[in-house]
Amino acid sequence: MGGRALAQRLTVIGTGYLGATHAACMAELGFEVLGIDVDADKIARLSAGELPFYEPGLEPILRRNLENGRLRFTTSYDEVAEFGDVHFICVGTPQKPGEYAADMSYVDDTITALAPRLTRACLVIGKSTVPVGTAERLARRLARLAPAGDLAELAWNPEFLREGFAVEDTLHPDRIVIGVESDRAEKVLREIYTPMTAEGIPLIVTDYPTSELVKVSANAFLATKISFINAMAEVCEAAHADVTKLSEALSHDDRIGGKFLGPGLGFGGGCLPKDIRAFMARAGELGVDQALSFLREVDAINIRRRIRMVDLARELLGGSFIGRTVGVLGAAFKPNSDDIRDSPALDVATTIRAQGGNVTVYDPQALDNARRAHPELAYGTSAQDAVAHAHVVLLLTEWREFRELDPDELGAGVAERNIVDGRNALDPERWRAAGWHYRALGRP
Ligand code: NAD
Repeated sequence: MGGRALAQRLTVIGTGYLGATHAACMAELGFEVLGIDVDADKIARLSAGELPFYEPGLEPILRRNLENGRLRFTTSYDEVAEFGDVHFICVGTPQKPGEYAADMSYVDDTITALAPRLTRACLVIGKSTVPVGTAERLARRLARLAPAGDLAELAWNPEFLREGFAVEDTLHPDRIVIGVESDRAEKVLREIYTPMTAEGIPLIVTDYPTSELVKVSANAFLATKISFINAMAEVCEAAHADVTKLSEALSHDDRIGGKFLGPGLGFGGGCLPKDIRAFMARAGELGVDQALSFLREVDAINIRRRIRMVDLARELLGGSFIGRTVGVLGAAFKPNSDDIRDSPALDVATTIRAQGGNVTVYDPQALDNARRAHPELAYGTSAQDAVAHAHVVLLLTEWREFRELDPDELGAGVAERNIVDGRNALDPERWRAAGWHYRALGRP
């Protein structure tokens, strides 16, 4: 990594899913990296080589780079300001309670803490997902608060990684987008991402607002694609058609493609739901709310799938959950993650409990998070354990171990062989042949 004159020492502010991944992967590429978080427990765990969340393949990279000394963690902004040539902002931008808009207080706090401590030339690079206009606003604040004045500059570099594939997506992204206001900032970012551009990964250089909009419009598109197929599932349910066949047939059209076209319980997590809502809120502020009014429907279709799921389960039980036992497979918002933010699975589980069902949940990775967020639910130690004596089984997160379940083995412990496949992840013929009443979203 010799010759990296401009940007040897990177800091990563906020070490959650995005920041911890970014910090470890940048160290893997040869940079010296210092990560900071306000959560001292998280910093202690990361410093000890332990990931505070589940992400396949990340822990060995974390450990390797702690051991070789390229990666360290701290809770001190003094240390961060002193250390970094480049500072990546990776803090959360969650939905504000009771509003559609994003809570920008964490991002604002990073500038408040960092800027007054900056006494030498550096680049502050935003990676968090933010409403368009944020970079412009932060650049002004940075200039006002930093004693180094115009030596500290801001750039935007939105992140597209997917949880579950975060390492691959960070080291080999589909594209890199940078929003810059100077040749110097562009040069620093190009240098940092040389290993990727050398591989032929496109790097798109643009202004602040366009770079911010690339991220939220990508998420709006993906959410729309999922809700499109789930809207088709609603129609299929009414018309006694099969949305999985419909989706398969559509996917062969190159113009449509099969990705994000799987019908099921819909999207959740810490990104898509809050990002489309924040996008709508921002469009309203900009006076173009009509342009995004379709996103309201995208959101509504998505939520209706959860309601339909609960209705299907209740139907299978003859109209009521009261006194009935429900085994729930899945708590994470998607497989290969322990993230339960806005999880459709837990939404369904808590709704059924509120309607009188005895619900037991199992997930291969998300049980600790689920327990903390929903202590009122019961949890099993395995799929078999969670469905013991169940009157209905619900598959809500399509983990591989659930896709591969044996219908006879699972059936041995249940009270009644009823299953609702919320992710269209199972083979209906196989489950019906084993004596299960099999129902799924969007299928006869
Ligand atoms: P997260 O909640 O897992 O992590 C955020 C971290 O920031 C937390 O550890 C928190 O303690 C820390 N933090 C908060 N305020 C701080 C401060 N003032 N100084 C230092 N640390 C602070 O969130 P995440 O999933 O990593 O998301 C972060 C951002 O990245 C969000 O804007 C999100 O939309 C975006 N993003 C996330 C993903 C993803 O898959 N998780 C993908 C792309 C973009």
